[in-house]
Amino acid sequence: MAIKYRPVFLNYGFTLNIDKHNVHRPQCVICLDVLANESLRPQKLKWHLDKKHGDHVNKSREFFLRKEREMNNSKSVMSLAVFPSKGLTKASYLVAEKIAKEKKPYTIAEELILPCAKAMCREVLGETAASKISTNPLSADAIRRRIIDIGEDIKHQLYANQEANKFVIQLDESMDIAQKALILIFVRYRHGDDFMEDLLACDELQTKTTAAAEIFAVVKHIALHSLMWEDCVGICTDGAASDRSAQRCH
Ligand SMILES: [Zn+2]
Repeated sequence: MAIKYRPVFLNYGFTLNIDKHNVHRPQCVICLDVLANESLRPQKLKWHLDKKHGDHVNKSREFFLRKEREMNNSKSVMSLAVFPSKGLTKASYLVAEKIAKEKKPYTIAEELILPCAKAMCREVLGETAASKISTNPLSADAIRRRIIDIGEDIKHQLYANQEANKFVIQLDESMDIAQKALILIFVRYRHGDDFMEDLLACDELQTKTTAAAEIFAVVKHIALHSLMWEDCVGICTDGAASDRSAQRCH
């Protein structure tokens, strides 16, 4: 029968650590060693404190409470650094999609969005949330990779969905604030009784020209290399990528 931890054990410098079998084990708040369940006895815990941390023997409960808090804080920082959660990854995809759809430069994520998100989290949710959000991968390179991933995923969905094997491509060109020509490629396809519109790709054009021939070459290269041309039943190049303009070209 496993022994249960008792709060009074903190007076000897030991906090509760629960292992993967749900068994209580004493953890020293000074050296962070985790001892066996059988060591959950005052004389054994006292022995560890005397032998290993002689200079802390007569410290108050407040001292050990402070050590316990420090230990818990560094644990949560560690887990944030080592295991970025799934939520953070999804958040970076959501940011990438927004940036592409709003035709903003990829660098805006790191330069503006992340500092704003951190400031808002710190104000509303506290420092832990702010440091969690600051581990979000939002470099320009990460945003570019996310946008490519999103496009690849859309292509897979398009081909997994038999009724969607005919599609319309919608192009939207614009200048970003760095005066680079951007091209956004949307795909519109049938889904049940409805039509879906998704972002397929977003990239910079090498030149500032918006000549149809160059745009067409880029589209062919970045968006359609794994799609079948014969399934593309229309290409629309004018206007913004709104539902209305997509409707027109369908
Ligand atoms: Zn210790």
